Amino acid sequence: MGCKNVSPLGIGCTILFVLMTAVAVTIIAVFYITEKLRAEADSRSAEEPSYYYQIGVGRADCTGPIANLPLMGYANPDQTAAGLHTRLYSRAFIVADPSTSRRVVFVSTDIAMVSQKLRLEVMKLLKRKYGSLYRQDNVVLSGTHTHSGPAGYFQYTLCLITSKGYIKPSINALINGIVKSIDIAHKSMKPGKILVNKGEVEGSNINRSPYSYLQNPKEERARYKSNTDQELVLLKMVDLDGHGIGALSWFAVHPVSMNNTNHLVSSDNMGYASYLFEQEKNTGSLPGKGPFVAAFASSNLGDVSSNTQGPHCVNTGESCDNPDSTCPVGGPSMCMSSGPGRDMFDSTAIIGRSIYNKAKELSRTATREIKGPINFAHQWVNMSDVTVQFNSTHKGHTCKPALGYSFAAGTTDGVGAFNFTQGTVEGDPFWDSIRDVLLGKPSNETQECHLPKPILFNTGEMTKPVPWHPDIVDVQILTIGTLAIVAVPGEFTTMSGRRLRETVKSELESSGSVKDIDVVVAGLCNVYTHYITTYEEYQVQRYEGASTIYGPHTLSAYIQSFRGLAKAIAENSVDQLPKGPEPPDFPDKKLISLLPPNPVDKKPNNTAFGDVVMDAQAAYKPGDVAEVTFISGNPRNSVGFMAGGTFLTVEKSDHVGGRWVVRYNDASWDTRLYWNKGLRGHSNVTVSWHIPYSVEIGTYRIRHFGHFKTLQFLKPIFNPYNGSSTTFQVTN
Ligand code: ZN
Repeated sequence: MGCKNVSPLGIGCTILFVLMTAVAVTIIAVFYITEKLRAEADSRSAEEPSYYYQIGVGRADCTGPIANLPLMGYANPDQTAAGLHTRLYSRAFIVADPSTSRRVVFVSTDIAMVSQKLRLEVMKLLKRKYGSLYRQDNVVLSGTHTHSGPAGYFQYTLCLITSKGYIKPSINALINGIVKSIDIAHKSMKPGKILVNKGEVEGSNINRSPYSYLQNPKEERARYKSNTDQELVLLKMVDLDGHGIGALSWFAVHPVSMNNTNHLVSSDNMGYASYLFEQEKNTGSLPGKGPFVAAFASSNLGDVSSNTQGPHCVNTGESCDNPDSTCPVGGPSMCMSSGPGRDMFDSTAIIGRSIYNKAKELSRTATREIKGPINFAHQWVNMSDVTVQFNSTHKGHTCKPALGYSFAAGTTDGVGAFNFTQGTVEGDPFWDSIRDVLLGKPSNETQECHLPKPILFNTGEMTKPVPWHPDIVDVQILTIGTLAIVAVPGEFTTMSGRRLRETVKSELESSGSVKDIDVVVAGLCNVYTHYITTYEEYQVQRYEGASTIYGPHTLSAYIQSFRGLAKAIAENSVDQLPKGPEPPDFPDKKLISLLPPNPVDKKPNNTAFGDVVMDAQAAYKPGDVAEVTFISGNPRNSVGFMAGGTFLTVEKSDHVGGRWVVRYNDASWDTRLYWNKGLRGHSNVTVSWHIPYSVEIGTYRIRHFGHFKTLQFLKPIFNPYNGSSTTFQVTN
């Protein structure tokens, strides 16, 4: 119907016409103004070109052996690997300044800590591949501190003993994974921008030595609202079109959601946060695949636990949040902390998701761009011999390394043995005499230097077969515009980290040319030197104080060293910094090996590798666990599957072309591989799939991929039972 003649309708038409004209004029006006503003903004940005960097990101598998060797973290000899929860990855970030061609590399790896041996080997390989492009001073290697990765990549005797020696397949997987992640990052470099954002992750960490923290001066504590740092610092990396390239963040928490009863290799809570972020960004990719890389790196987590329920006596249920972490019945070995979940997997998921959620929010809301030149400074320091100048009249000195009695007590995240108690400031004649016979008596000088620590392991004076602890350690700072990454060689406690950050910040800002510098402490970098407490915390000798190996002035010595680096960066005099004494590089053959070789894989008579000994049921419902057990070899013999492969897949039938589509692999959160060791070289593996509630209904199969027959640690020969699988329905 048209708009003619009829008068009420005519009025209606007129009003409509006026309204539409008004709307049209408004739209045109808004459009015109927006365009004008945009043009103005463009001309402004043309006047002051925005800063961009060359950015590359890379991720590579570094899982290593998953059976029949110790896990690194709790130093518990009973905690040996027997399967896989999630794969371990190395995540590398390279940032270069196109105007100066200076570049820095930050690598976060799913391992307990970076060891000196690992760093030396990685550096040798980088040198061979890239000449002087990637070096001591511009590459930082950091560990996430998962306590569920393979051991065996150390060159000093103490950590070699808890690892059952030097394990070539472990360190090789790490070297190759780290270098491969750098290779991928190197090849993927493109122009981009970095935004920084910060926010608090709530309810996801607690202080596990609050009594030590309370020793810090009241005025100092009053400046902080919590006895842990809850801030997560996130770097969001985007290309010049604003598309996400990667995310790199730091948050202070021990990845100890997986406790010391766990036998599956796992990247724990920080790894799960990476997993969630990468799965979200790499839509449709299997875990560990896709270009977007998200790392959740460690920070000043020394006294910070993810077991947020706090310590309780496992026998009576009462709280044991006391200075010695002891229980009225059963003593210290009964006092343990637990996470927020119904079991350790659930706790890992809760903490990991909480960290990821904050990172995701910070990534979404990030607006502050990092701009400015790239700098870096590195030194080797003999930490056994640092004189700290407190003021013009007072000085202190570091000590040769030693561990105190409370080191053997462990923590409430993983208790020690023989009822050693945290907070021990006096030695025991019984243990002292055993120590003197087995390991030798510490010199008076060393004993005095460490006071009030009673020495249990006099590692700094033990040199056979190789030194028990490092003397030469790395101190290193990278700066990208207004961001400073302080790479520390161990586990700084909350307050130690705060003091260090403050020092570096004020030193970097001292020239007045740069302001608002964000300083992050990157933990577990380059070489492992256990813990670093404040002087005050050290006095009460809980686990962290007993593990502050260079004595009461360790933190002051680090602060002095890092201040020197920051000053050199601020004054543009890094080339004048002395390099310091080079660390030793012990050849492999000097490193003890205590891990017995794997027996040759055998199977029962009249069976084949890959035979199903426990089959799946015919049908499952979402939320069920489908399990299949196959006759197998020892996965430690399957060298070929350690990196980049998968021990299992869960596949879904597409019902059309009879094709099976891989939906899950062994890096998936929902799958687990359990290795069951049998007698006389026999073994089998159980593949379990925790069927998510969100699963698509259909026909699935679980496959256990290839068993390898191998000569110990040599290239494996394929034994083709690739294809063992079992089929079932997932129904409503
Ligand atoms: Zn730790």
